[in-house]
Amino acid sequence: MEVRSLGNTGLQVSALSLGASPFGGVFGEVSYQDCKRCLDSALDLGINFIDCSPYYGQTKAEAMLGRTLDRVARDKYILATKVGRYGAEATDFDFSAQRVTESVDESLSRLGVEYIDIIQCHDIEFGDLNQIVEETLPALRAVVAAGKARFVGITGLPLKVFREVIARTKVDTILSYCHYSLNDTTLENLLPVLEERNTGILNASPFSMGLLTGRGAPDWHPAPEAIKAACQKAAQHCRNKGASIEKLAVQFAVANPRLATTLVGTSKAEDIVSNVNCLTAPIDEELLSEVEAILAPIKDQTWPSGRTENND
Ligand code: NAD
Repeated sequence: MEVRSLGNTGLQVSALSLGASPFGGVFGEVSYQDCKRCLDSALDLGINFIDCSPYYGQTKAEAMLGRTLDRVARDKYILATKVGRYGAEATDFDFSAQRVTESVDESLSRLGVEYIDIIQCHDIEFGDLNQIVEETLPALRAVVAAGKARFVGITGLPLKVFREVIARTKVDTILSYCHYSLNDTTLENLLPVLEERNTGILNASPFSMGLLTGRGAPDWHPAPEAIKAACQKAAQHCRNKGASIEKLAVQFAVANPRLATTLVGTSKAEDIVSNVNCLTAPIDEELLSEVEAILAPIKDQTWPSGRTENND
């Protein structure tokens, strides 16, 4: 597995990495055995970066990930988790210094580790960016100074929030999702400013949270119907040609060397194996052009997330 430098952290992360949100049952029921097999296959195949959050499955994902990491040597993986988001409603966010500091301790305990590699503010578009810059990030830097985490990052959907925060303060990493996949590549517009600051770039959701899969998006998916329909049309086109949209989607995202890693969410070892295996095969350029043509009418369209003022 290729590894890439993550900004100025000194970390070398695998080009493909494991998103542990499905460990919390957010895409369907999961068992410990399945999650353990999934984690072990990921590590065996060279994936060394894992992302989680207390929000996923309302702490269930962290607890399950912690069980699967039990007895895995701590130097075998780079672990990221988050603070600030604890539920689906706007009222379920708390970016106060006190809450995020306590939250790190709770995550350490659920994950069963002594430190977190990257502690991230989760979906900052739901918060007040002044608070993120002036209160939350300083609190997380204190967590780093206390040895409980190594680096600090921010995550969110609207790219605007990254621009605003990194113009005002330093963060080690940003995690962007659903903005570098077959249907949306707008993260590219942000790359020059991130590269200028040597900020580590974590790209999540190459399937646009399930839109670009044969199974289709889960019920809770926030995309408008037109996006869902176009993605399903693209998936059907791949099926008609005996091909897999998942394979194309993973190859497409990982092929961009400017993204340190691409996080795919799964709790299934079979997904890990096929996602890793497809990286050694050449991308089918003809199929890619056909899929891009199908997705062209909705290309780069997104959906609102968080506070109105934090959206583009
Ligand atoms: P994704 O695009 O990775 O899609 C996940 C879905 O694809 C799941 O249903 C999974 O079962 C399925 N899948 C995975 N491999 C497959 C395969 N080979 N064949 C068929 N289906 C397959 O979306 P995601 O899980 O939301 O994102 C990945 C990770 O990125 C998350 O787990 C999380 O760690 C991170 N993330 C973070 C944020 C944030 O911080 N705000 C937001 C989104 C994602």
